[in-house]
Amino acid sequence: MPDGAIAFVVEDIREAMSRDVLRGRCGCEAVAYEVADEFLVAYNCHCSNCRATSGSAFLPWGEIEREKLRVTKGAGSLMVIGDADQAHAMRCGACGSLLYWTVHDGTHVRVPYGSLVDEPALKPTAHMFVGSKAPWHEILDDLPQHDEYPWS
Ligand SMILES: [Zn+2]
Ligand SMILES: [Zn+2]
Repeated sequence: MPDGAIAFVVEDIREAMSRDVLRGRCGCEAVAYEVADEFLVAYNCHCSNCRATSGSAFLPWGEIEREKLRVTKGAGSLMVIGDADQAHAMRCGACGSLLYWTVHDGTHVRVPYGSLVDEPALKPTAHMFVGSKAPWHEILDDLPQHDEYPWS
């Protein structure tokens, strides 16, 4: 390989590394996505809907501009819950894993942190809807706790 070509490849790698892209996937690995490591907010939500939809004590999620998430594998097997042009959630059609849901008229998405393969720079900053948390679950960390929305 000529020197010029090597320099070009190195430049490509540098650019890829500086992009700070996080990988995510569904449970059966039919669907994979990439999302910029630029989450705007992140919370652990203890509301009854998040608990039911995740089947867990709470649902940690991060919010980001919709265009910063890209489905890289299995786009054809995505299952849209709701209206594709309006508010909706996206699940893997094969295993049902929740991958993201839209908010703010579709300009942003919320990503369940449990689907991330890589570690996001922004960790959940607080617990929300602690007023409706599962009675059998005890919060053991020191993050702030909000009965409902942290921003209300
Ligand atoms: Zn799947
Ligand atoms: Zn919730």
